[in-house]
Amino acid sequence: MAHLHASVVGAGLAGTEAAMQLAKRGIRVTLYEMKPKRFSPAHFNEDFAELVCSNSFKAQRLSSAAGLLKQEMRILGSVCLCAAEKARVPAGGALAVDRDIFSKEVTKEIKNQENIEICRREVTEIPKDEAVIIAAGPLISDALAKALESRFGSLLSFYDAAAPIVTADSIDFDEAFIQSRYDTGEGDYVNCPMNKQQYENFYEALVNAKTAKLHSFDVYEGCMPIEVLAKRGRDSIRYGPLKPVGLKDPRTAHRPWANLQLRKENAAGTLFNLVGMQTNLIFSEQKRVFSLIPALKNAEFVRYGVMHRNTFLNSPRLLNADFSVKDERKLFFAGQITGVEGYMESAGSGILAGINAANMLLREEPLKLPPVTMLGALSAYICDNTSKEFQPMGAAFGLLSALDEAPKDKKLRYEALAERSLKYLKEKFSAQED
Ligand SMILES: Cc1cc2nc3c(=O)[nH]c(=O)nc-3n(C[C@H](O)[C@H](O)[C@H](O)COP(=O)(O)OP(=O)(O)OC[C@H]3O[C@@H](n4cnc5c(N)ncnc54)[C@H](O)[C@@H]3O)c2cc1C
Repeated sequence: MAHLHASVVGAGLAGTEAAMQLAKRGIRVTLYEMKPKRFSPAHFNEDFAELVCSNSFKAQRLSSAAGLLKQEMRILGSVCLCAAEKARVPAGGALAVDRDIFSKEVTKEIKNQENIEICRREVTEIPKDEAVIIAAGPLISDALAKALESRFGSLLSFYDAAAPIVTADSIDFDEAFIQSRYDTGEGDYVNCPMNKQQYENFYEALVNAKTAKLHSFDVYEGCMPIEVLAKRGRDSIRYGPLKPVGLKDPRTAHRPWANLQLRKENAAGTLFNLVGMQTNLIFSEQKRVFSLIPALKNAEFVRYGVMHRNTFLNSPRLLNADFSVKDERKLFFAGQITGVEGYMESAGSGILAGINAANMLLREEPLKLPPVTMLGALSAYICDNTSKEFQPMGAAFGLLSALDEAPKDKKLRYEALAERSLKYLKEKFSAQED
């Protein structure tokens, strides 16, 4: 019997998940990846599912939107979450990974799948195949973006910011202390405290530092560059990313005036990320300004913060909830380019697009998860054509359909929402296995 075949463009978080779901259903897949022949401005190594900025997949607890999303993805057989378990580094209540080990694990799993053929080249036109999934990410190559624009009209875009990374060796531990906020976790963060004067110096330098040029400025709140946030008021960052609450400096036995947290970037603990310090300052200014924080006075920067264009589709006009294109059922999109926002959201949409492309080829019904699940709610969001100004969206409890009897207490409400989702998925998928 002739095999069914699909093409997946982009071996990022979404593309690897999509390819895996297709392959597991017996579909032969060609997975196209332009690395190492071509790299986007934020990709640096040739492995798949590269994490371009933070190494965190956010909170784990089920009563958080990010935690629920991950649990749903585990039920659907996520290759990224399987790899994440093997690449894990301590990060309090969050799931954080060594980015190199993580990408290597995903790459290994994909290479072990006999139904997947890997093709290392840039795709410049929408491939012709029995099913096609485009998962080329927010930094999609120009040629393919052009091909999409000529087929579907203009793509949307906004700017996104990434935080700098320093070496562990270069942190001055006489000026830092290891502690998790409110002593949750196992002292997973390195804290860089500042007294009032040190904070004032840092603040002045930050708001007056030279920034790189941007053609347009439309950054969403969660990824606002620190210098932009700082300009909103003298204490804005002291109540934001530099907040000292829940911390006690063992040298003074007091809460610092302001505090920068550093999070481990790799399992060896040789690199640390400056949490919340996404920035668009020019590189020399980043070194000058962040080195004013006492613990970072000799810091060696292995990667500076950057800002990038993020491209996404006008999905409400273009896509169905199963991630297929309206009136073009063989073509699917997955990942950040569809307007889901975040590593896990991108990977999750890849799972759904992969299952649905396979279902289309196998002449089965599309998998449309209801908005009692986080994945269903995100799918509903991206194709909601009542939205006036479409913007990328990450997992959030507010997207889920309301409970019939919602507890007033927020934590209990979130727990009930998570329970409802997982009950639905477990029943649905155990019924399918029977
Ligand atoms: C700078 C930046 C920082 C971000 N930081 C975070 C963060 O800290 N946390 C978070 O949760 N999310 C973050 N995001 C958002 C998002 O989660 C990531 O972009 C995520 O990697 C998206 O997954 P994806 O699979 O859609 O795309 P990607 O992971 O980018 O995968 C796309 C793949 O397609 C390949 N490709 C592109 N064009 C072609 C082509 N024409 N032919 C063949 N291959 C092609 C690329 O090389 C890449 O491997 C960030 C995004 C950016 C741009």
